[in-house]
Amino acid sequence: MGLKNYNLYSAQNYVDDILSVNVSSLSKAITLIESTSEKHQKIAQEIIQLCLPHSGNSIRIGITGVPGVGKSTFIEAFGKFLTASKLRVAVLSIDPSSKIGKGSILGDKTRMPDLSTDPNAFIRPTPSGDSLGGVSSKTRETILICEAARFDVIIIETVGVGQNEIAVHAMVDFFLLLSLAGAGDELQGIKKGIIEMADAFVINKDDGDNKIRVQIAKADLERALHLFPEKDTDFYPKVFTCSAINNKGIKEIWDEIKLFETNSKSSGTWDKKRAAQNEVWFTESIKNNLLLLLQNNKAIQLAFNSYKTKIQSNLISPIIAANELIEQFLQQLKKQ
Ligand code: GDP
Repeated sequence: MGLKNYNLYSAQNYVDDILSVNVSSLSKAITLIESTSEKHQKIAQEIIQLCLPHSGNSIRIGITGVPGVGKSTFIEAFGKFLTASKLRVAVLSIDPSSKIGKGSILGDKTRMPDLSTDPNAFIRPTPSGDSLGGVSSKTRETILICEAARFDVIIIETVGVGQNEIAVHAMVDFFLLLSLAGAGDELQGIKKGIIEMADAFVINKDDGDNKIRVQIAKADLERALHLFPEKDTDFYPKVFTCSAINNKGIKEIWDEIKLFETNSKSSGTWDKKRAAQNEVWFTESIKNNLLLLLQNNKAIQLAFNSYKTKIQSNLISPIIAANELIEQFLQQLKKQ
């Protein structure tokens, strides 16, 4: 999406539009957030700051699962269920296979044809590109401005591979793992760390010939979950089954999320978790920005490359090299 014609638009103009639920301006503001241009970043940061007092009122749900598990089918069914209940839904898909400006598989509107034409839904891919830290920050910023645009439920979708789940878990209220009734071992292919993060498990494709296998998988998964240490919250993750294609089991999952919300708001864990997530975001941003400062500094880049060669040949320990590099940077700052 081009931004050329929007140079005359001020941050306040964007925010006025966003607050009056203008989805086209919301989209453009997200493009500014994702842009690497300094000028765009400046206005994006202003937009976020102005949206901040109007943010925070949604339920943020993370959904993950391996490709083929039925994420887009599920999100379409779940999203339609929510919009039919008069809720506004934003879906942000993190797509590790795409780069900024290069299109996106997950963002393809054909994945969620009904939801993408629903006036109460907004679907937006987040190309994850190369930098995970950058993406998680941009997705968090996007969540805030979607909330200012009065979306009640924000779904962050990610493919169940790699580190994306950890990043998504750190920005949502409820984390849902979609899985399938597999051949025997239900935890096959699902990393232990992801299981520990989940607030609910959903076994999809509970239909046709698959029904019995799904029931067995559910019992297996429930048994396996007892082996995991209890979380430090008072909420025990449950196993649900659904048939996304037949809209079966969707309401039960939403009821569970609402129950989680009610319980954790009354116990205070809801706010505590969000506050802790903000703190993580803050420290992550410091780390990322410092790294960027170092990367953008020519002399330091040269030194970095020279240290890299020495480290690879075990001539210097990585920790000493890092300390020396930072010292060099600090000396350079002092001289300025
Ligand atoms: P994603 O890669 O996780 O987004 O998965 P998709 O939503 O694209 O689904 C992968 C395949 O599984 C598609 O052919 C869907 O039609 C099918 N599928 C999704 N949900 C169900 C379901 O509940 N039952 C059955 N039988 N098939 C499903």
